[in-house]
Amino acid sequence: MSDLGTLRVWDDPAIWAALMWYLDVAENRRPAKFRIAATLATELDPRESSEEVLWAELDRLTPIFLSRWGTIRAGAPLPRPAEGPSLLELCRELAYRMLAHCNFCPWDCRVDRVKGTKFGACKLASASRVSSHFHHTGEELFYRGTEGSGTIFFTSCNMRCAFCQNGDISTDKDNGEETDPRTLAAMAWTLRREGCHNINWVGGEVVIHLHAIVDAICLLGRHFEPTQVELVRALKTKADRFYSYDEDPGSAEYDGRFNAPMLWNSNFFMTLESMKILRILADVWLPDFKFGPGRCAMALAKTPWYWETVTRNLALLDEWGEDFSIRHLVMPNHVECCTYPVLEWIADHIPKAPVNVMAQFHPDNFCDPASVKYRDKYEEIARRPTHRELDASWRRARDLGLNFETASFDRRKDFGTPAILEI
Ligand code: SF4
Repeated sequence: MSDLGTLRVWDDPAIWAALMWYLDVAENRRPAKFRIAATLATELDPRESSEEVLWAELDRLTPIFLSRWGTIRAGAPLPRPAEGPSLLELCRELAYRMLAHCNFCPWDCRVDRVKGTKFGACKLASASRVSSHFHHTGEELFYRGTEGSGTIFFTSCNMRCAFCQNGDISTDKDNGEETDPRTLAAMAWTLRREGCHNINWVGGEVVIHLHAIVDAICLLGRHFEPTQVELVRALKTKADRFYSYDEDPGSAEYDGRFNAPMLWNSNFFMTLESMKILRILADVWLPDFKFGPGRCAMALAKTPWYWETVTRNLALLDEWGEDFSIRHLVMPNHVECCTYPVLEWIADHIPKAPVNVMAQFHPDNFCDPASVKYRDKYEEIARRPTHRELDASWRRARDLGLNFETASFDRRKDFGTPAILEI
């Protein structure tokens, strides 16, 4: 049994209320959503049906899934998995159909990534590459817990943030190792058996790898056991392979089968179609919310339609009753145009959401004056945020009544004391 639930972070009622499903799955008191999806049969043959028919079937099954999820949340037992194709296989087939005219994200490139003769903004064909995977101890306390977040880092991105704090991964699509869905599933399987509290799908950006991730989750929902060859292949990108972790299969099971919360850690620049598939599979979401409604997303990340896409997706999470927390990185000289509007939108639309107002921006990638990649046009963000900028951001979050202290300050020595409020 995981000790995640014993941490004092859950004493914050707002955190507990926002992440209660995630905690239940992390501690194997409930089955993950992919396990529930596997119990809902479809009468279609997903491979033989048109894409239009598949989407209609997803729309038909989603309310049934939500109703079953509701009863399981309330304590009902998990029914037996479907014998034939289920909602899980339907999601996998839809992701692969999308890949052939790619519309995973709002670039809507419509390239056939299966053929791989033309490329979209992410520059990827169908193959996915993993840069590294490991027990991540740098995430928020409710995700990293005591054993780490089981993080799988994918390469490439659909945005072009000049300041990217993971530029080596996001700008180099050939970084890491090409990884098939069975090897991805083997990574998740091992991380969870080693005690990780969740499987944290992240990049670069993850939605551009939707097909591979959905395929891996589908395998995990269906009696998956990796072969020795797959385990050795997975080990190639395991950044903490020289540490020894004891494997405990019992810590990775609900009702005798693999179980783990799926954490979708994303820039949230993705289409409604991707959201609809992930609604079935993601137990907890960790969206970034970086830019205000002005031109900053274009100027700093060459990304159009940013504000309308991310706010629509965040509003959906709330409307759908999903577990999620938000990250906002305070950028130098962008407190008025980005931080304030972002915090105000959250306060107006999703005021209960936990928010991590992050201080760790440092000049990186094209904004790092010490780098050969540096461009003068990014001079305004070529420094760390000042204390004044950070204090102003936290003060605004507090004045708006946001739930941000726990997520933002869980590493401070005085975490949990009244001093935390003396910003
Ligand atoms: S994932 Fe986005 S950027 Fe990449 S090909 Fe698909 S629509 Fe284009």
